[in-house]
Amino acid sequence: MASDLKGGDGLPSHEAVRELTAAEAEARIQALRQEIEHNTYLYYALDAPEISDAAYDSLMRELKALEEAHPQFATDDSPTKRVGGYIEKQFTPIRHAERMYSLDNAMDEEELRAWMESVRKLYGTLPPLCCELKIDGSSIALTYRDGLLVQAATRGDGTTGEDVTANMMGVADVPRALKKDALDALAHPERPLELRGEVYMPKGSFEALNLEAQAEGRKQFANPRNAAAGSLRQKDPAITRERDLATFMYSVSDNAALKLKGQWELLQWLKEAGFHVNPDVALCQTEEEVIAFCSSSLEKRNSLPYEIDGVVVKVNDFALQDAAGFTSRAPKWAIAFKFPPEEKTTLLRDITVQVGRTGVLTPVAELEPVLIAGSVVSRATLHNEDEVHRKDVRVGDTVIVRKAGDVIPEVLGAVITLRPEDALMWEAPKTCPSCGMPVIREEGEAQLRCVSIDCPAQALERLLHWVSREAMDIDGMGEEIIRRLVETGRVSDVADFYSLSEDDLANLSTGRVNKEGETITLGHPTARKLMSAIEASKSRPFDRVIGGLGMRHIGKNTATDLVEVYPSMDALMQASEEELQEVHGIGERAAASIWAFLRTPDNVSVIERLQAAGVSMAAVSPSEDALPQTLSGLTFVLTGTLTELRMSREEAADQLKARGGKVSSSVSGKTSYLIAGDNPGSKYDKAVKLRVPVLDEGQFKALMDTGEPPVL
Ligand code: AMP
Repeated sequence: MASDLKGGDGLPSHEAVRELTAAEAEARIQALRQEIEHNTYLYYALDAPEISDAAYDSLMRELKALEEAHPQFATDDSPTKRVGGYIEKQFTPIRHAERMYSLDNAMDEEELRAWMESVRKLYGTLPPLCCELKIDGSSIALTYRDGLLVQAATRGDGTTGEDVTANMMGVADVPRALKKDALDALAHPERPLELRGEVYMPKGSFEALNLEAQAEGRKQFANPRNAAAGSLRQKDPAITRERDLATFMYSVSDNAALKLKGQWELLQWLKEAGFHVNPDVALCQTEEEVIAFCSSSLEKRNSLPYEIDGVVVKVNDFALQDAAGFTSRAPKWAIAFKFPPEEKTTLLRDITVQVGRTGVLTPVAELEPVLIAGSVVSRATLHNEDEVHRKDVRVGDTVIVRKAGDVIPEVLGAVITLRPEDALMWEAPKTCPSCGMPVIREEGEAQLRCVSIDCPAQALERLLHWVSREAMDIDGMGEEIIRRLVETGRVSDVADFYSLSEDDLANLSTGRVNKEGETITLGHPTARKLMSAIEASKSRPFDRVIGGLGMRHIGKNTATDLVEVYPSMDALMQASEEELQEVHGIGERAAASIWAFLRTPDNVSVIERLQAAGVSMAAVSPSEDALPQTLSGLTFVLTGTLTELRMSREEAADQLKARGGKVSSSVSGKTSYLIAGDNPGSKYDKAVKLRVPVLDEGQFKALMDTGEPPVL
């Protein structure tokens, strides 16, 4: 086994180094640290390594082994400690010296031209515009002091980000030190310099990571952007280091920090300073040049090894940028031109049928996985029987799939010329694929439906709906756990969640086995968390309980309307079908559905058992400690993540409702305020278009503290 004692590159192995005397070890440790520092600089700062990665790792391993064998020589600033040593600091909030903004979007050429027109008006003439690819990754802010990397932070909510310094230190192309010559451009060398860019994961590495996750039974990432953000925000920096992350840098937090005139020069300087800068840039003088850059970028999109989702167009001159300034969300001197929906062809492997919680049967296209607009698409709904026939898609067909950004993918149709002879026309099932009972199609309905009360697929969907965020929000109770609980007979209806014990959950199999071939169970720590999540769900507001029961035609908003008139289960049980129809927002069908549901003995028994378990069965009546209803008459819409307040949208909605406000899911002319957290979605753009006032997290907090809507 002699070869085991030697590293592949001839360096002594861990066992060998233990035999050194203390003095020899100390000398070797010093020499190794110097050598590693030198190579780190060459590798990270100069992008010009002189030794292979394997040799570098080997030096590091030897140093680590020596420090372990001779702990008296271990120091906190050793290269071996630098990554691990940051663990405690993970994700401490970092307030950005200058706010990190988002970008306003132009969804098509017309909007892009309109933006350029507004720029022309603002300055009297169209100034040179710097066009860059919009990298679909995660924003990062890197701070250098005296030319050395001292801090890395995510964008967070724009004002405060997360400390990911230790993790970014492991990203290979981030220079630990700025190149000396580049420092001459610093306007204030004594001040820290914050540079910004994007961390991304190349498409190939994303696919490899997902294959690995699949093989190990771990959750896969939806797209390269999530994979980048997820890999960056690891508690253990060693994991980040293993992931293939890379960066493109493109901005500075404060234009005045560098003695440069504009964006174009900044990009050149970033390159000189040692950063990776995306090579696809253009300094455009005319509108037509900008449009041409956007078109050529769109053409290039699929052949690039990383994801892009548009082009960022920036007024080049810093002085002109400063003159234009910012809105509360984005710079006025830049715009993101978003690429149109992407279409790809792929194989339709099968059409399966999914049974929903109310028994609706939905045909689903099972596709050969394909990366479209940043995410892997392997399934797409085909809505209903008529839709399948209208689109004439057959198993074996090459189909065209369209997707835009985070939007749900859609099958557009088949490429008929590529249809194989044996392509199968789909036939709607006559029986439910889950329970085998005959299915029906009611008059005037497009959907097939399984009306069996004992259908296991419906039961599973009902359980999933009950634990979902919009209903009882039982954190951690995912599909896999529920499946196992059902399979083992511990849970068959929603009331059964409340009779589970910690042991029931702890002993539940995860379906995986360890190296010894033993089944891995959930274990007590997870079980304890689940038990407290179940306990917490008992005090969810009554309208969530009603919505959670999954009655047909009763969604979140109908449940709220219902509870306003019938604030307890007792009251609801006594209401006649006609009385229910009187409730605002409840139609004939919904009234019939509620009435029938509450008269089905199995459902009544579930409700009784829920009540006995302590699940709230009445709305909290306005008592003396009820909050003043200062927001009554106002309608709110929420978008984005309330990162700073660490609040889910459901919690925020509950707070608004507790003060009499209404919460709606879409922006319209009737919306009083949009509350926008981090990464707001299209609701934000709609609100701006409709001139609906937008509250940021700070303003929302003020609203909660004072109970008064702000005067904007
Ligand atoms: P969004 O995430 O849609 O709000 O778009 C804004 C984000 O685009 C910024 O926060 C950056 O992280 C990202 N981005 C990607 N590439 C660029 C670029 N070349 N210039 C500026 N921002 C970019």
